[in-house]
Amino acid sequence: MTAAEIAKPLVRARNVHKSFDQLEVLKGIDLDVMPGEVVVVLGPSGSGKSTFLRCINHLEAINRGFIEVDGEQIGYRLRKDRLEKLSSNGIASQRRKIGMVFQQFNLYPHMTVLQNIVEAPIGVHGESRKAATENAMRLLERVGLSEKADSYPRQLSGGQQQRVAIARALAIKPKLMLFDEPTSALDPELVGEVLSTMRDLAKQGLTMIVVTHEIGFAREAADRVVFMDGGNVVEMGKPEDVIGNPQHPRTQAFLARFL
Ligand code: ADP
Ligand code: MG
Repeated sequence: MTAAEIAKPLVRARNVHKSFDQLEVLKGIDLDVMPGEVVVVLGPSGSGKSTFLRCINHLEAINRGFIEVDGEQIGYRLRKDRLEKLSSNGIASQRRKIGMVFQQFNLYPHMTVLQNIVEAPIGVHGESRKAATENAMRLLERVGLSEKADSYPRQLSGGQQQRVAIARALAIKPKLMLFDEPTSALDPELVGEVLSTMRDLAKQGLTMIVVTHEIGFAREAADRVVFMDGGNVVEMGKPEDVIGNPQHPRTQAFLARFL
């Protein structure tokens, strides 16, 4: 990698606007994420956090501005100096660079853990079963669940299911991982194991955008914290600044709930 490539953001979001009918949900979001960076997004319910993640993954189309991932504008491709809107095939190919983990794990109940993980690599990406299985077993080891390969989701705890969902998202070898409140649906005693898996991924250099209310995780694992409110980025910076010494009254009010 050249110095120039290292310095290039993996994600560039500029002036991102998104409305649902009359409701303006994102009001001009600017955010760069560097390769290997872990960005935690905090903010009250309804502030637009999920919508922003969904726009990065093109699950929602934006109304103004642009989002680039890995040098490509989401939803568009440069052709002979002209930006052309992508077909669903093109969008699918962009999505392959992005893994997403949701609050609800959404594992296929009728498939084993291993089948859940190899499904997209084989079915969508055309990997051989052997290569996909080897990779899946490596990923299960990484999330501490090697011995559960042949179990069904219902035989696992919520925390284990979410770790499988993380392994499944990693199986397409994404350059970027998006997490939308990955521990919010878990019983409190199961939150720790999922956060610890995410902390390991962060240490291994994965680029991650994480929406969470886990302030402790943000403090330890984030390179940068973004506080969103009302469709705007209100404050952004190092965790020790944004969490430790918030400047904006709205950030202060939000964080006061966690004291
Ligand atoms: P957060 O994740 O921060 O809680 P969301 O991005 O889910 O916030 O939602 C932001 C606002 O957008 C909310 O007012 C929500 O009701 C609205 N919203 C989200 N998705 C849709 C949709 N598909 N149609 C209409 N309104 C939506
Ligand atoms: Mg949300």
